[in-house]
Formats: sequence, C-alpha cells, structure tokens
Amino acid sequence: MPRFFIKVFVPGPFFEPLTYASEALIDAGVRVQVPLGSREVIGICTGESETPETLDTIKSVISVIDDESIISPQHQALIDFAAHYYLAPPGDLLLSSLPTTLRKGKPVPRPKTETGHKNSPAYQLTTEQQDAIDAVDQKANQFQCFLLQGVTGSGKTQVFSELIHRTIKRGQQVLLLVPEIGLTGQMVTRIQDQLDGELAVSHSGIADGARTKAFVASAKGIADVLIGTRSALFTPLPKLGLILVDEEHDGAYKNQEGCRYSARDLAIVRAKQASIPIVLSSATPSLETWQQAELGKYQRLRLSARPGQQPQPTIRLIDARHDKPKNGLSEAARRAIRHAIDHDQQALVFLNRRGYSPVLMCTDCGWIPGCRHCDAKPTLHRQPDSLWCHHCDHRQRPVSVCPECSSLNLLAVGHGTERLEEALADGFPDVPVIRVDRDTTARRRAFEQLIQPVIDGQPCILVGTQMLAKGHDFQKLSTVVVTDADQGLSGADFRSVEHFAQLLTQVAGRAGRHGATGQVLIQTHRPDSEWFERILKQDYDHLARAMLGERQQFHWPPESHLALITARATTSAPVFEALGTIAHQIRALNSPVRVLGPAPAPMERRNRQYHGQLLILGKRSLIQWALKETGPWAYKKQGKVMFQLDVDPWDLW
Ligand code: ADP
Ligand code: ZN
Ligand code: ZN
Repeated sequence: MPRFFIKVFVPGPFFEPLTYASEALIDAGVRVQVPLGSREVIGICTGESETPETLDTIKSVISVIDDESIISPQHQALIDFAAHYYLAPPGDLLLSSLPTTLRKGKPVPRPKTETGHKNSPAYQLTTEQQDAIDAVDQKANQFQCFLLQGVTGSGKTQVFSELIHRTIKRGQQVLLLVPEIGLTGQMVTRIQDQLDGELAVSHSGIADGARTKAFVASAKGIADVLIGTRSALFTPLPKLGLILVDEEHDGAYKNQEGCRYSARDLAIVRAKQASIPIVLSSATPSLETWQQAELGKYQRLRLSARPGQQPQPTIRLIDARHDKPKNGLSEAARRAIRHAIDHDQQALVFLNRRGYSPVLMCTDCGWIPGCRHCDAKPTLHRQPDSLWCHHCDHRQRPVSVCPECSSLNLLAVGHGTERLEEALADGFPDVPVIRVDRDTTARRRAFEQLIQPVIDGQPCILVGTQMLAKGHDFQKLSTVVVTDADQGLSGADFRSVEHFAQLLTQVAGRAGRHGATGQVLIQTHRPDSEWFERILKQDYDHLARAMLGERQQFHWPPESHLALITARATTSAPVFEALGTIAHQIRALNSPVRVLGPAPAPMERRNRQYHGQLLILGKRSLIQWALKETGPWAYKKQGKVMFQLDVDPWDLW
C-alpha cells in the first residue's frame, strides 16, 4: 500500500485535479510525471489527497521533476480566478501558463536578462506627461486602474519609461504588456534605451529556451521589467509594483484558442490581487474601458497633443466613385505617394486583406470557386500560386479553365496586398516596396528585418495589413493611404464600427510624427457616412459617445455582458440539438438572462464542420451563475459535438 496520495493538475478537460499514489509526500507546485490514459503527461502537484475509495484503480506518480515549487501562491490565485471566471479547467490553464519547455518537463534553466542602457531622454517631459506620471506614482502600492488616453504620437511610451524608472527605484518589478510581436521589438528598444535595470522579454517570436529563461528571471525577481505579449501576463513577478498595458483596445489581448481569456481584463484582476496600480493606454480605448473612465471608476490621464507642436495629421476622404481607383489606387493617392517620395519621405498603403485577390471569377458564366470545407470563397494567392481559404487554411491549385463552361476567361476581382504590391512596384519603380502581412512575416524575426529600412529612414513604400497600424514610430513616414475603407463599415458584428474607427485612427496616427505634417487619404465609396464625419473630427471622445449611444440602444456591451457558446460537429442536427438542450436548461432557471438562439454561426460550415451558437446576454454575475448551474460542458466533447465557451467574446464568430 502506497504511503501517500496526492492531487495533480493534468493537462486536458479536467475540472478537478486527479489523485495519484506516491511513495513520498510532494509539495504543491512541484511538477510530476504521471500516467494519464495510455499516455504519460507532466502535471503539477496541488497537495495531499484523502485516501481515495477506489484504491485498486489508483495509478502512481512516475517521477518527480522539481526540488521545490515552481508555482507561487500569487500565480495560483490568478489562475484560480481565470478558471472560475472563464469556466475553464484550472489544471489546463495552469500548465498552459508555463513556458513550453517547463510544460514539457524540462529542468528549470538559468535566468537570463538584458541590461538597460541608462540613457537620459533627449527632451523635457511635457506638463501632461509629468501630471500623468505623478498621478500614477501617488497610487504606488494601492490598486487603481488608470486610462492613459493620449492621441497617437503624444508620448505615451515616454510616460511608461518614466513610470518604470520610478517603480524600479522603489525596488519593484514592472510588467509591460504589448499586443503583438511586431510591436514588441520597437517597444523593447525604446524601453531598454533608458532603462536603469534588467529587462526580460517574452513573446512567441522568441525561442522556447530563451522564453523560459525570461520566465525564470522574472520569477526570481532578477528582471526589473518584463515586456511581453498576452501570455506573459501569467509570469510570476514576486515584487510586482506596476502593470502597463499598451494599446489596451487591441484584439490580440484576447486569447482565441483554449481558454478565451482577455489578458487586459486579467491584468486588472492581477493588479487588484497585488494591490498595485495598472495603466491601460490607448489613443482609441475600447468602449468598455472608455466607459469606466467616464464613470470615474478608472482614473483618466490625458495626453491631448503631440509634444513639440507636432500637429496631428490631416485626414481627407477620396470619393472612389469619382476618382476611380486603378489597380487599387486613386489618382489622388498616387499623387500623394509621389509627393512623399519626391520629398524624401515614406508612404504607407494600408489594405487589410492579404493575398492577391479576394475573388476569382469566370467572366463568361459568373462561376466563382468555393472552399471545399467552408461556406467561404478562397483567396487567390500568387506567391505561391494557389486558392487559399483563410478560414480553414485549405489550399488548392488555381484553376485556369472554368469547370462550368470551359471558358479561359478567369478574372481576379479586387485587391489584396500582393496585388497592391505589384501595382505599387509598377507605378513607383524608383523606390523599394515593402509588403508586411502575415505571409511575409511568418518566419521568426522576419518582421524586424522587413521594417529595418523603414526605421532607418530609407525612401520606400510600405504596403500591408493591420500589422502596420499599431504603435510603430517611423520617423520619415509622412503619408498614409487607406485603400479600401468600405470593408470596415459594412461588417455585421456589433463591434465592427468600433474596430474600424480604431484601426483608421491608428493607421492615420503613423503619419507625420516628426517633421512634415502627416497626410492621410481614405479611399471610399461611402464618403457621406456619418461615421466618417465623426472619425474625421479626430476627437475620440465624440466618436466613443456616439458608438456607446448605439450600443445602449441595442443592449450590446458594455451596456450588457455576453457569453457565447459555440458548438460544432460534422452534421448540423446534433449541434442544434445539443445547443437546444443548453438553451432550455438556462431558460428553465428563470433568471433574467436572455438566451438568443440556437442559431447558425455567421459562417455555418467551416473547416468541414457545422457551427451553431447560443448567445447569453445579461448581468455578468447572472451569466456566471447560469453557466455554472448548467455546466461544465465547455471543453468537453458530448457525443459528436464539441463545445467552446467564450465569456466576453471579442466578436461573434
Ligand atoms: P505614442 O506612444 O503616444 O504614440 P510616442 O511615445 O511614440 O507616442 O512618442 C512620439 C514621439 O515623440 C517619439 O519619437 C518620442 O521620442 C517623442 N517624445 C515623447 N515625449 C516627448 C517630449 N516630452 N518632448 C519631445 N518629444 C517627445
Ligand atoms: Zn464559366
Ligand atoms: Zn475553407
């Protein structure tokens, strides 16, 4: 008979730890290797268990990996909150919060950091910057959420740098979250430049081993600052004194695989648990955050101008009905790009659609190829030649003969970034054209390499997707062209307009941050839209107020809270049956939450499977209660149906 029984968190859809037999007592937070079904997995011990009733089926721990716990109580507390709030399996969440090498059972490596360069800023802080810094400083060692709402280019990063400086001086650590890998590079360079301390960096563009070293450096209190993307949120920081969330409105903070947590929302929870201040920064805050600031729950700090009288860019609409775009570009846009280049400046052409062309069509009979696995049209790509479905990743060879009428007249309709790159290279042969989208940046460090000439200030034209919209501070970039602004306004999702307005403002904000006044041209077929009128005012509060009014009218968030239950299976009947049962159970609770559906998902057939959904609207606490009463069914396969629960969904897909 074994001497001890221990509880172990294992990966997978287990809402409770499993019990194993062990020859020795194992501390909570220590990694162990255990059998699970026919596999052997790495789990985390979570304490001693009572003697189980079914003794004969109990399996034994295979090996113990760590000498001491690698999970701090603070780390565990954050995971517990997330598991509770998102109704996710706590063990799975805990394990996925560790860097890959630790999750795989590798030994804890030595910590590694980079040392700051201790340079002083080349300028004086503005009064607004100083006020913002003082306000946060006053709340040291207390929980307070701040919204640093500053127009693009107003010097938010400098505020971060100074706040980091002060926090380190108090002997504390800082966590700085950034939305995307592309953004991390420049942010790291800028923070490291002035940093008087040690820096660790964590994001998916960094090798697993290096990431683990950053994790250890943070956990041991050696790193003074940790800069990272979404998953860095869970990194243990024993002396944490401040959390900074850059571009807080960004969708990249929402995890879209596994537990659908929002790193921004959990960062606020973490700050509360640690009793420290947190600063959310954005030129275009999410409506959720903006409303909290209006209500006075978050303290708003404003940076209303660019330092040194650098003006905001001028924004102008191009009526694409009159100045008809040729190869994606209107005459006015071509002239503006030419002007920029001739004046030793750079231009950015923005199109949020990768590939060559969104549609291939037979001009004789109108046939358009579809994706075999989705209700979607594959995008034509030229590098390499393929019809590529962006929803399921299925690629097929492009057709050259129409299968319906045997015609050879197949036409690529519309533009993607590849095609725009081609047109720009034709029209501006004297300068390099640099395309930045998911396809050109898939390799590690590809993004940094691609944009290096832009940072160096060489004359060039940048063309790309939303990867270019954010954060970057390109000194020589004076002109921005948004080639297809109609896409964003026609979105069906309740957040479409918000996301579109944020994207436009952010892209526009890349223009003219130094030197010449920036110029932004927006090509649209709908120049009369009232949303354009609001966006052109460049007054985000005005815009936010209008958007919030609309949300309140239709009871969408932040007026209400949402949870989205998605179910999928190879045929549609079991999906609707399973969702119908859940809908019935929730309605039978007689609580004032509203249940919408079951309904087909916006794209019903995706990746060979049928998708249906159920939307639950109401007060946050009531939704939580209803989900707990009827669950847990998320993460579990019920018969043929897979469920996915998304609390506070980012969109309704
Ligand atoms: P944001 O993050 O708000 O978009 P940045 O922090 O990138 O803005 O600042 C924009 C530019 O202004 C940067 O090149 C930065 O070095 C510069 N800057 C920041 N603060 C000041 C200041 N007080 N005086 C002069 N220049 C500043
Ligand atoms: Zn045809
Ligand atoms: Zn597909």
